[in-house]
Amino acid sequence: GTTLVWLRDDLRIADHAALTAAVDHAARSGTAVGSVVAVYVLDDASEGIRPLGGATRWWLHHALTALADDLAALGIPLLLRLGDPAVIVPELAEVLEVDRVHWTRRYGGPERAVDARIKEMLTSAGFAAHSYPGHLLHEPWTVQTRSGGPYKVFTPFWRELRSRDQDPPLPVPEPLSSIRSARAWLADLGIATGDLAEWGLLPTALDWAGGLRDAWNPTETAAHSLLADFLADRVDDYPRGQDLPAENGTSRLSPYLRFGQISPRQVWDAVHRTALGEGAETYLSEIGWREFCWHLLFHFPDMPHSNLRPQFDAYPWRTAAEAPEEFRAWTQGRTGFGLVDAGQRELWATGHMHNRVRMASASLLVKNLGIHWREGEAWFWDTLVDADAASNPANWQWVAGCGADAAPYFRIFNPERQRERFDPGDVYTRRWVPEYGTDDYPAPIVDLKASRADALAAYAALK
Ligand code: FAD
Repeated sequence: GTTLVWLRDDLRIADHAALTAAVDHAARSGTAVGSVVAVYVLDDASEGIRPLGGATRWWLHHALTALADDLAALGIPLLLRLGDPAVIVPELAEVLEVDRVHWTRRYGGPERAVDARIKEMLTSAGFAAHSYPGHLLHEPWTVQTRSGGPYKVFTPFWRELRSRDQDPPLPVPEPLSSIRSARAWLADLGIATGDLAEWGLLPTALDWAGGLRDAWNPTETAAHSLLADFLADRVDDYPRGQDLPAENGTSRLSPYLRFGQISPRQVWDAVHRTALGEGAETYLSEIGWREFCWHLLFHFPDMPHSNLRPQFDAYPWRTAAEAPEEFRAWTQGRTGFGLVDAGQRELWATGHMHNRVRMASASLLVKNLGIHWREGEAWFWDTLVDADAASNPANWQWVAGCGADAAPYFRIFNPERQRERFDPGDVYTRRWVPEYGTDDYPAPIVDLKASRADALAAYAALK
């Protein structure tokens, strides 16, 4: 019997439980060509599912292109479909006469609702539907505080996770047959593969993606070589390097983890095999932050748009429309604060911003400019190649003070102090803002001291 593997944020062939189970099933039933078919559905239709931003669309195009080749080498065709998965997936199951459909679990509220509905449709139509783990180290419902309920503080959450064992990652499955025969088989059935070019994921009129092309190679293979280089050369120095945006001190794996081109279990395993030490522990704890954000999203599905601490609902943040000049200056890197401007320009050019700079930039927007964190989150959603439904809002809420485990409100980042401390010699700042320090560079658009006092007063009024 044939298995349909519905791919989402799991665009890899190694350590893929849903795919491996499909190949195992095919091997057992003795069929080869067409016994496993994969499909990716670009879903701009389902209720509550947020359409991808520009940078993630660019990434997705290249990730799917690479994945189609990798799957082809295993004898597995990748079908590309645009539309509503609740229509497309059951229809394909029917046409392909599959006996089962597999997928890797998702953890956002709307995504879980879609998956539950499709599972029900498939089951009642006589197909088996199986979901598998893979996006996280541990399923969120298995990680609870001693008194029950989710962790809202990172340190005890991480202590619990760090003490748990991890199964080794799965290898790439054995090839089933050649792609040539799989293509012929699909053609016989009259099933089109689908054409990525028609989805319009790449820039059209204005080519804004040059910097992204220079900065990234969005393939599964590239993810593993980035990880290997990081573990060989930089992990020991990570506790220092992770704070210095001028240096290449971090792993740059976030977009690959975002699209599942590498799994957190593969990262965990590689770190344990090669590099355990203080730097590696710090690095693993950052993978822990990713996990923490996803567990928060599972338990608090409104996190992408609602304050985790409802007392902040009364905070007088402005919308971007209420502060158009300031918001535009922030997005374009013209605030007059060097580190923030460098970060915003790096983001626009490459789809990435260093974590230290993300914190300083977010803090300036939310605390000094008094603009709602949701506005900044939406900008990042559109421009980051690693933008996701968990880490992005969780980190924005953390900076804004309304999130889980947020820093005390009075600890407001000073972007000038941050620049002096973490970008000594302004190396990173000048890389992205060449006019920094000249007459062409704008004066600060906000008085740090006065705006800080305003923010503290607004916070005090909440209590
Ligand atoms: P490394 O330092 O090499 O860390 C390794 C991995 O750990 C990362 O790839 C990432 O998966 C994870 N990680 C590290 N820090 C965090 C963190 N604070 N929260 C969650 N996971 C973390 N990260 C995203 O993946 N997607 C987002 O949309 C996102 N939005 C952010 C918004 C704001 C306002 C801030 C302050 C941070 C945001 N981050 C987000 C977290 C962090 O900035 C990036 O994960 C990191 O910069 C990615 O670079 P790296 O892969 O080189 O990280």
